[in-house]
Amino acid sequence: MELRRLGVHESVGAVFPPERLRDALAEADPDLAVPVVGDDELDDCDAIVTFAYSESFLDADLRWIHSIQAGYDRFPLDALEERGVALTNSTGIHDTSVGEFAVGLMLSFARRLHTYVRNQQAREWSHPAWDDPFTLDGERLCVVGLGTLGRGIAERADALGMEVVGVRRSGEPTPHTETVYAPEDLREAVADARFVALAVPLTDETEGLVGAPEFDAMREDAYLVNVARGPVVAEDELVAALREDEIAGAGLDVFEEEPLPEESPLWDFEEVLVTPHRAAAERDYYRHIAELVRENVERATEGEELTNRVV
Ligand code: NAD
Repeated sequence: MELRRLGVHESVGAVFPPERLRDALAEADPDLAVPVVGDDELDDCDAIVTFAYSESFLDADLRWIHSIQAGYDRFPLDALEERGVALTNSTGIHDTSVGEFAVGLMLSFARRLHTYVRNQQAREWSHPAWDDPFTLDGERLCVVGLGTLGRGIAERADALGMEVVGVRRSGEPTPHTETVYAPEDLREAVADARFVALAVPLTDETEGLVGAPEFDAMREDAYLVNVARGPVVAEDELVAALREDEIAGAGLDVFEEEPLPEESPLWDFEEVLVTPHRAAAERDYYRHIAELVRENVERATEGEELTNRVV
């Protein structure tokens, strides 16, 4: 694949300044033009690095699209394949960032940090009930999906002394998990867990994966952590489970609709932590993306198969 002009789509500005990525890419390959482009400036681009998907990508003569996210559920895979446009994603870089974030959510619930922040805002010196705080050490975590994110979470939870089990399509063991269940045994896998962390991509198979029957199977003192994609959880059923105290709470970075609508009941639960889809955010994000893209620019130029290829 000949690459002379690689656009950085302005939508990456939702995650980091586009110029940072442009400079990092242009520095590495002076023969490659790397402009920051909007939808109406795609004409001369051979490829694009983007956050959002835009219909204009299909009209432009792009050979390759790189998504700065791991999830690619917003891209029209069939249409891209039909037109011979390669799509690559950014899986493989979020183990540390999302791993730390998911563990941070669990630590907050266990050590009651979210309640102290709330009290501080009200200038209130207030203690939790004596038996509310607990330690993560010895608690059971079930990680659903053991790819980059799932393994990053499992490794960090294991380091904190948690008993980590997981759900994996192959059912084969992975490092830092004591037991691995097959997806059909999901309810059995979550039954004894104090925390259930979701780390699967959004696919036809995983949409609504966690709903009323899973909340029913979970412990009443269990917390759900969703750092995957909103629609992996049936949100109405989550709200019902929280209202009926079927589970203790949830740490949610992703939602069926984002931004989470102001009228969503999820904002109001004391034991729900809402974060704005920022589990992977970190100041070096653009550097990790630059490394992935640079590697694929080299591969494309050498005529080799692209890494992280989705289509
Ligand atoms: P990955 O491809 O490395 O891992 C996904 C894993 O899930 C794979 O091992 C796959 O086999 C497994 N899987 C798929 N369907 C399954 C099922 N039904 N049951 C059990 N396992 C199943 O991807 P990743 O980098 O770990 O990212 C996973 C997803 O997390 C992404 O697709 C994205 O939607 C989301 N994500 C969110 C954030 C965030 O900021 N909150 C950041 C990165 C990724």
